[in-house]
Amino acid sequence: MTIQRRMILDELRASRSHPTADEVYERVKRKLPRISLGTVYRNLEALASQGAIQRLDLAGVQRRFDHAPAPHHHVRCVRCGALEDIILRGSAHPDQLVQDARGFEILDAKLEFLGICPECREPGPPVPRNSHFH
Ligand SMILES: [Zn+2]
Ligand SMILES: [Zn+2]
Repeated sequence: MTIQRRMILDELRASRSHPTADEVYERVKRKLPRISLGTVYRNLEALASQGAIQRLDLAGVQRRFDHAPAPHHHVRCVRCGALEDIILRGSAHPDQLVQDARGFEILDAKLEFLGICPECREPGPPVPRNSHFH
């Protein structure tokens, strides 16, 4: 693994969030000022192809990357767009949620819940921002 790729993976993992390629680039650039957005993008795509990270293709938002390679579900803030992992109760196979699969064999599901994050909900003093990627 190149130093660049290692640095990109470290930044993604440190963020604990689901940054876009642009956001990863902004972070990595502080340590590797000569790196280009294209290089960051290519490395993220390569890491995703290797299964080291996940590429998230969600409706209506810029492609984000996820440090966690295993399938899981997300909640998205409708105000600021913050995206966090969400933990579901139980471990039912998505198949069991479906009443009529229209003849499909269900393999997997990616659920995206919509909500308002604590930061957007609270008008008072700001909550710690460590779970956000800013
Ligand atoms: Zn928010
Ligand atoms: Zn995630």
